[in-house]
Amino acid sequence: MKIAMFDTHGYDEQSFRAIADEYWHEISYFKPRLMHDTAVLAHGHEVVCPFVNDRLDARVLRDIYDGGTRLVALRSAGYNNVDLEAAADLGITVARVPEYSPHAVAEHAVALVLALDRKIYRSWARVRDWNFSLDGLVGFDLHGKTVGIVGTGRIGQTAARIFHGFGCRVLAYDLRPDPGLIAEIGARYVNAQDLFRESDVISLHIPLTPSTHHMIDAEALATMKPGVFLINTGRGALIDSRALIEALKRGHVGAAGLDVYEEEEGVFFKDLSDRVLQDDVLARLLTFPNVLVTAHQAFLTKEALANIARVTLENVTAFERGEALRTEVRAELVLPTGAQAH
Ligand code: NAD
Repeated sequence: MKIAMFDTHGYDEQSFRAIADEYWHEISYFKPRLMHDTAVLAHGHEVVCPFVNDRLDARVLRDIYDGGTRLVALRSAGYNNVDLEAAADLGITVARVPEYSPHAVAEHAVALVLALDRKIYRSWARVRDWNFSLDGLVGFDLHGKTVGIVGTGRIGQTAARIFHGFGCRVLAYDLRPDPGLIAEIGARYVNAQDLFRESDVISLHIPLTPSTHHMIDAEALATMKPGVFLINTGRGALIDSRALIEALKRGHVGAAGLDVYEEEEGVFFKDLSDRVLQDDVLARLLTFPNVLVTAHQAFLTKEALANIARVTLENVTAFERGEALRTEVRAELVLPTGAQAH
């Protein structure tokens, strides 16, 4: 089948080309993000392969449908950027890569905690300037601390196990608590308020839905322990960034590790080093010495990229053969729990 891949980077192309011979699909690698202005690139392709910052709203879906697209094969786990109801109305099938490496994302969340706690990025910069002083670099032992995992699906559970390995006490919050996690590492499920109140480190691993949008707002931040470390590798809009800035200015939040940002679309994945950053909220976040921002790279490991390529091409192959797609995302499957994307 003809596949139009959007927001393509060198690492995407490399991982797909590495296994392309095993499949007969023809891939067009497009650098632009998919949006109304670029949808024309997809014309003549039965499959569109977007990533997290491509926008598949009703208008774009109509555009690509008119151009012959019948399958949206997301090369991501999250699907909050797709209007699933509009896709269903048009008869476009949407598939994703539900699990490519929970380790990649969970390990990145832990890396953010360690880098912030032990101030690795600050010492790296200092030592390069031959400043070998230790003032201002005092961290804390992770051992014995309470870590709150918000969302104990694939990634959250993996993160919980790693923190458990460090000797942390794990609190968990999820709509569907998993008894297995309680038995395995002694995690204690609590409500969100108790998790916020008791945790030294909070790591977000829930999807972005209408009910989780700005889940971490001024009110939630105020209930957190002073000095709390807040880590977000989920989706940017789980956190109200302006409220976070206020909490950081007050010193209430001890550190923030952000792999995602609510307005990352059009900024992340791009080299803007010769431009003036137009997003004042992001610019302010980047001024804090206790905020570490990475540009949505938690997924970026060799293993994850290889799995993304493989599952995406399997999705396309199954669709071509008329087989049921195990990875299909449908509006009616997610709407009742409030898990529809927006
Ligand atoms: P998953 O579906 O396995 O787990 C999500 C968990 O969240 C489930 O246990 C579900 O019950 C729970 N949940 C959903 N809505 C909830 C709510 N309102 N309140 C409490 N719990 C709720 O997903 P996953 O594979 O673990 O991924 C988690 C998220 O991580 C994804 O949705 C995606 O947005 C994000 N992600 C980020 C990256 C990255 O590179 N930064 C990569 C992959 C995934």
